[in-house]
Amino acid sequence: MMNGKEYKESLKKVHPTIYYMGEKIESVVDHPMTKPHVNSAAMTYELACDPMYENLMTAKSHLTGKKINRFTHVHQSTEDLVNKVKMMRMIAQKTGTCFQRCVGLDAMNATFITTYNMDKKYGTDYHKKFLKWLEYVQENDLMIAGSMTDVKGDRSKKPSGQSDPDLFTHVVEKREDGIVIKGAKAHMTGMANSHEMLILPTTNLLPGDEDYAIACAVPVDAEGVIHIFGRQTNDQRRLQGDLDTGNSEYAIVGGETLTVLDNVFVPWDRVFMCGEIEFAQDYVTRFAAYHRQNYGGCKVGNSDVLIGATSLIAKMNGTNKASHIKDKLIEMTHLAETMYCCSLACSYEGVKEEAGSYYVNTLLANEVKLNCTRNMYEISRLAHDIAGGFIATLPHEWDLKAEETGKYIRKFFVGNDAYSAEDRIKIARLLENMSGGTALAESMHGAGSPQAMRIMIYRESNMDQKEKLAAKLAHVEL
Ligand code: SF4
Ligand code: FE
Repeated sequence: MMNGKEYKESLKKVHPTIYYMGEKIESVVDHPMTKPHVNSAAMTYELACDPMYENLMTAKSHLTGKKINRFTHVHQSTEDLVNKVKMMRMIAQKTGTCFQRCVGLDAMNATFITTYNMDKKYGTDYHKKFLKWLEYVQENDLMIAGSMTDVKGDRSKKPSGQSDPDLFTHVVEKREDGIVIKGAKAHMTGMANSHEMLILPTTNLLPGDEDYAIACAVPVDAEGVIHIFGRQTNDQRRLQGDLDTGNSEYAIVGGETLTVLDNVFVPWDRVFMCGEIEFAQDYVTRFAAYHRQNYGGCKVGNSDVLIGATSLIAKMNGTNKASHIKDKLIEMTHLAETMYCCSLACSYEGVKEEAGSYYVNTLLANEVKLNCTRNMYEISRLAHDIAGGFIATLPHEWDLKAEETGKYIRKFFVGNDAYSAEDRIKIARLLENMSGGTALAESMHGAGSPQAMRIMIYRESNMDQKEKLAAKLAHVEL
């Protein structure tokens, strides 16, 4: 296993083409825009080497029997599923933001099951090839970017019906030694500082969409791969100092790219699906369920920090004794712990798959994420309510540091004088950045938009059975 420092060193050996503000990012480890995201992902490495977190952060590989980082593990029990959630909450408490490595973990677990099921039906050898690649990932402790979301074009049309065929990633050429793929993957969390990406389909597919049924592993710096690093709310503050970013070491949210695949060659031993349209829906469902499971882990860990910041700001403002403040902090805690309950529940209700690994309860995993799309907004609303309007009007950190203005800011931004104005501003900036803009949009759309969860909830709701329960008690013959 690598520690945080070794992970950063390993990134220096990868040379992805990444653009930001019209220029190439030469080193993701050093560039001010990507550095905090690297630090956050490095936490998944650093804590795995800390004996205090061994139980949560590491697992025994079912392939080699060796101790591995849990982020490369295929879940072998419901305990593994539960530990995944607890691990994510714990890391998120330390970073206050997304640590990105979960998407690859979820893509790998979904691929483990889907390749097994495809081989069973078609006698293909996807599972064997996937296991070989997985062992390589585990042995080298790689960070994998789970690459599902296509750009999707006209949402009313299927992949093969789009006016531009590249709006969903597809195979453009099949050769003796491999395939060539084309398209783009959007909102790619952690991609800029991953070693490889695991590409999978983004939606259910119909006859005619065969070229779009594609899963494969591609190094982030493969020829033809171009990453365009996305903006985030307040991102330019990183170029101006630390204080106004709120969390300068780890940033706010994941650091996403638009990843273009411009005729990328993939050798056959890295292809894990090629044309099996009828498995696309199940693949997507499994990946999504694993990823939705997480949000009661990472977002709750982030909420722990946000609730702490809100409680502190109340003390700094001198309002902490007011009963309505206490009640709002209780409400914030209740909303966060409700998400955590759902994540634990979908893990404890996990089942063993024929492939041998464990899969979460799909219905409950979707409940986690649907709750998140509301609860994180409400938690943030209450944080703003308690903090007060000054979080929206605070001056620039340079004015705090300037001789002419600093003395006034330090004088007039004091609340409860047990705390300095500077500390009050620091907590306010943390709160501001964690509770708005990109961070909230990520809670809404990360791991899928609310309507995607609603569709899954309806599908899994067993409405027939519910109707029968009602009909029986009402003595109605159906
Ligand atoms: Fe992991 Fe959460 Fe970030 Fe998704 S949003 S990658 S689950 S930390
Ligand atoms: Fe996410």
